Amino acid sequence: MNAGKVVAKTPEQIEGMRASGRLLARALALVVEAVEPGVTTNALNTVADEFIRDHGGTPSFLGVPAGSPGVAPFPGSICASTNDVIVHGIPSGNALQEGDIIGVDCGVILDGWHSDSAVTVAVGEVDDEAERLIAVTRNALDAAVAAAQPGNRLGDVGAAVQGLVERAGFSVVRRFVGHGIGRAMHEPPQVPNFGTAGTGAVLAVGTALAIEPMVNVGGPDVRFDTDGWTARSADGSLSAHFEHTVVVGASGPMVLTSRAAS
Ligand code: MG
Ligand code: MG
Repeated sequence: MNAGKVVAKTPEQIEGMRASGRLLARALALVVEAVEPGVTTNALNTVADEFIRDHGGTPSFLGVPAGSPGVAPFPGSICASTNDVIVHGIPSGNALQEGDIIGVDCGVILDGWHSDSAVTVAVGEVDDEAERLIAVTRNALDAAVAAAQPGNRLGDVGAAVQGLVERAGFSVVRRFVGHGIGRAMHEPPQVPNFGTAGTGAVLAVGTALAIEPMVNVGGPDVRFDTDGWTARSADGSLSAHFEHTVVVGASGPMVLTSRAAS
């Protein structure tokens, strides 16, 4: 899917992507605020969908075709992935429970430019392991972003995630990877969350990447629900996911989906 040449974005194109990322960050911040025990994931989906449309954007996940035959297109504007769900959970009428964790992944198209970002949050009070998983996965994203320096290589990004996660005693999910992003949600290159520092393609100024570590408390293996989308840890252990859309700038990485800056 992401084979082919990596095309760096021009400063004008990056401004377009920045606007898309800012809108997505604001939508996700609202969703995070809305997370509490008793809220359904359908309600969270509505928060994101309405905010994005009200601000001139289009939620990009809704209607995405499945990779496998016989699976319906994705029915939500967010992915809502609770507890052992790694990614691609479908919003539903199920209410969040105290002690759950929920990963919310969302994508926006604004003026033709895609952005993609995810965050995992605690629902009320969670146990120490869940809290540590969320912190480690967030730190893994931060480390990966910090490695997205011009002249560094893709392997530096993956190694940053893998090293941090494995030192914490958790596993990196390998079945899904990050990706280039721009006029399409998925562009070259693939961005694995594992690898060897100093190997792989060199990161050029203007390269736009969606970096997205997925981390399981237990083993890295994945199983799918019969809906064809919902991807869970095979051993049922908790899983977390964080993602930012990032551009490799001349003086370092620029995070386009930072909720702090929105
Ligand atoms: Mg995403
Ligand atoms: Mg992505």
